Amino acid sequence: MKRKKADKIFVRLLGDKSLRQIAEPVSEITDETRSLISGMLDVMYENEGIGLAAPQVGVSERIFVIDPFWYREGEQKNPHVFINPKFKEFEGSVQAEEGCLSLPGVYEKVNRAKKVVVEAFNEKSEKFELEADGLFGRAIQHEYDHLEGILFIDKISKLRKVFIKKQLKALESTTNKNGENLKIS
Ligand code: ZN
Repeated sequence: MKRKKADKIFVRLLGDKSLRQIAEPVSEITDETRSLISGMLDVMYENEGIGLAAPQVGVSERIFVIDPFWYREGEQKNPHVFINPKFKEFEGSVQAEEGCLSLPGVYEKVNRAKKVVVEAFNEKSEKFELEADGLFGRAIQHEYDHLEGILFIDKISKLRKVFIKKQLKALESTTNKNGENLKIS
């Protein structure tokens, strides 16, 4: 897939085909990769999100960014970049409400592992491993799912899905016949 320039990227909404593709591993972390990441962070902060995956901006690569607490009073921005992430461990299970920049206005309870250990590369090509729980651990699992073409609404009950059917249809209706959502958010 052609990479988008940092100033041209925007969040794709439900219905966009890029949200349903399995993303490709990043073979080399280049200036282009870093420019994409910096654009993704801009988009995430502008939209008041705490996480964003490359497929959400139409780029099918295994990259996501997370900053779980930046919007809290007294907190500084502290972005975490994950390139080619891999889970090493899952522990426990916990349910909490989630939202997604690709599904504005939709919030549903989702089961996730309570704690994860993940290995990835950062934008400087340094390999790191981290353990995360709480909101950070949840965000990592949510963003990782985007790399697999999975959305959090795939993990909710059938009954809840019936409840939000209209909302989902309305979002999907903003997609054009090429399966692209071109609404600038
Ligand atoms: Zn999401």
